[in-house]
Amino acid sequence: MAGHMTPEEFRRYGRQVVDWIADYQEKVESYPVLSRAEPGDVLADLPAHPPERGEGFEAVLADLDRVVMPGITHWQHPAFFAYFPSNTSGPAILGDLLSAGLGVQGMLWATSPACTELETRVLDWLAELLGLPAGFRGEGTGGGVIQDSASSAALVAILAALHRADGGTSGRDGITRRHTLYISSQTHSSLEKAARIAGIGAANVRVVDVDPATLAMDPAHLDALLTEEAAADALPVLVCATVGTTSTTAVDPVPAIGAVCRRHGVWLHVDAAYAGVAAVCPELRWVNDGLAEYADSYSTNPHKWLLTNFDCTAMWVAARAPLTGALSILPEYLRNQATTSGEVIDYRDWQIPLGRRFRALKLWSVIRWYGAEGLREHVRTGVRLAADLASRIGADPGFELLEHHPFGLVCFRPRWDGMPADEADAATMRLMERLNASGDLYLTHTRAGGRVLLRMAVGAPATRPEHIEAAWRRIREEALAG
Ligand SMILES: *Cc1c(COP(=O)(O)O)cnc(C)c1O
Repeated sequence: MAGHMTPEEFRRYGRQVVDWIADYQEKVESYPVLSRAEPGDVLADLPAHPPERGEGFEAVLADLDRVVMPGITHWQHPAFFAYFPSNTSGPAILGDLLSAGLGVQGMLWATSPACTELETRVLDWLAELLGLPAGFRGEGTGGGVIQDSASSAALVAILAALHRADGGTSGRDGITRRHTLYISSQTHSSLEKAARIAGIGAANVRVVDVDPATLAMDPAHLDALLTEEAAADALPVLVCATVGTTSTTAVDPVPAIGAVCRRHGVWLHVDAAYAGVAAVCPELRWVNDGLAEYADSYSTNPHKWLLTNFDCTAMWVAARAPLTGALSILPEYLRNQATTSGEVIDYRDWQIPLGRRFRALKLWSVIRWYGAEGLREHVRTGVRLAADLASRIGADPGFELLEHHPFGLVCFRPRWDGMPADEADAATMRLMERLNASGDLYLTHTRAGGRVLLRMAVGAPATRPEHIEAAWRRIREEALAG
């Protein structure tokens, strides 16, 4: 019978695993970016039943290469341009490994003071690096917390906003009157999902118009909707503004939206999941416009573009009382002196689950390894490569380009001159499918301005100018062939 892995065995296999990861980093470029596995392929290679006797770790490593790797899409590949980047980095991986090694569950300050206090400090650091409002820092009424995802951050913001809007009655009695939530057609789908989960209901999610040219939310229409609804006896709960939408990185006018929220007494959540981290660069710090004056909650994902492997969403609130008011619950078995003293943060009161991983370790390692300088350089490289790509596309008469590309995302498509709109959309989709099937690169698409566009999101740490050049060459060849 296999017993626990001894520290000696752990040392041996641990070295093999670290070597395996380092080898992977060296050769990631040699894989087809998008996995070629068909549905069921991986399942078919896995035994239907678990082993009765322990097998040893070599067997796991062997199956990693044989069974798992063919079913992997290589997010760290330098030609991965799909969705948004999901950066990882050496210091982030090692920080996460340390977190696993400590095996801490940080639900309460008392369950590991360092897990809480390191998180508080690292989020203050990140707030400083991004130039976020002083009110978000832990020493004031607000504060930061690491959530597992921007989706959770949105749900938590809605629950805090509900608490503030109705004085906590919905937490106690459930939602007994109509509550409303305000998004635009460009807002991430996680907001509607959060409205469903929170009991507000998808039917009470109001969609504010966007400017057809910029796809940014129209503050005047928001104002009109809020005025209308106040008269109809609904309780507006939260407005979500987005800085860097998922579809095209459109930027909602946060200061103008914030002023409307203030007038109507509605919570403003700003979702900057992808683009918020760009504020490490002073020249991109305009992404924070309006936060200091108006944002009640804010989130951005170091797990997208800031070199910290999933999951790591940084969320800040201007006031923590509504958040802990909404989520705090103290059963007898969690009662402890530190909590009772009121001198400590218990982050379980800032999130949906009770338990929490020690995620601050990986963000801490990343910030210390790169420094502000290294983080800025990473973001600037992505912006520069995307700008290069956009200028090539813009200079090619065979392609149309979405002019707005302030970050790492570039949206474009072939002109398909003379083709009816639906055929042009279908041709764009076929082009994308052929490119992705080639294994040379991986792109996704969106629909904006009534047409299908290709989205090319630059920002993997391994991506260099030659990868952009090669991808652009492939796209042109394939568009001509189609
Ligand atoms: C990616 C993204 C999300 C969702 O992020 P998760 O962390 O995966 O939940 C939300 N909003 C925007 C604008 C995004 O780009």
